[in-house]
Amino acid sequence: MPNLYKTILQQCPEQCELLIVSKHRSVEQIQAYYDQGARNFGENRVQELLQKAPQLPQDIRWNFIGHLQRNKVRAVMPYISRLCSLDSLALAAIVDKEAARLNRTLGVLVEFNLAEESSKTGLAKQEAAAFFQALQQYEHLIPEGIMVMGPHVDDEAAIAAVFHEARALFEELKAQWGGEHFTVCSMGMSHDYPIALREGSTQLRLGTILFEDPSSI
Ligand SMILES: *Cc1c(COP(=O)(O)O)cnc(C)c1O
Repeated sequence: MPNLYKTILQQCPEQCELLIVSKHRSVEQIQAYYDQGARNFGENRVQELLQKAPQLPQDIRWNFIGHLQRNKVRAVMPYISRLCSLDSLALAAIVDKEAARLNRTLGVLVEFNLAEESSKTGLAKQEAAAFFQALQQYEHLIPEGIMVMGPHVDDEAAIAAVFHEARALFEELKAQWGGEHFTVCSMGMSHDYPIALREGSTQLRLGTILFEDPSSI
């Protein structure tokens, strides 16, 4: 069986990043992917990141993909290179302040809920313009794009429709607010990444498929 990680990398267009979602995985499992050349990893829990990151190489680019509580920002800031789940201005204000304290900037993706499932976090599309306008005031945040989840359905057309809408929103925001760093349309997980690639994803977030397929490491 071919190595799945390498196969998926080959399917990605050049501008598409493969983020390895390493939540619930051990330091050894992460190191195995690092040794194959992977540098972009995603975690969604603060405690887990704080426990694992110090044991792993420092050139890993940790993307935080979970809901981030404001009182945890200071603790994660030294480790993360991007926050993919920015979903409130209150959080933006604190992240900006903590980045300033460390004299650094932080890349952020704004999370949108386009699947309109009530269990999901993220902004509504209608809130986008005001949100990006307000983000301008935070000098230490670099808006790099958006993150979107597909709906939890089997209907591929319904998933494609949400990803299509996400890519259109990304283009709109890029035209109006995006600088040179606005390049990330993060969509696609283990069960729907081929659809996301077809709809123009530039960051796949893959966990299960990479760690539960024994051929991949
Ligand atoms: C867990 C998670 C993923 C990866 O999901 P898999 O189905 O394991 O590929 C992607 N994005 C977010 C935000 C996640 O929490």
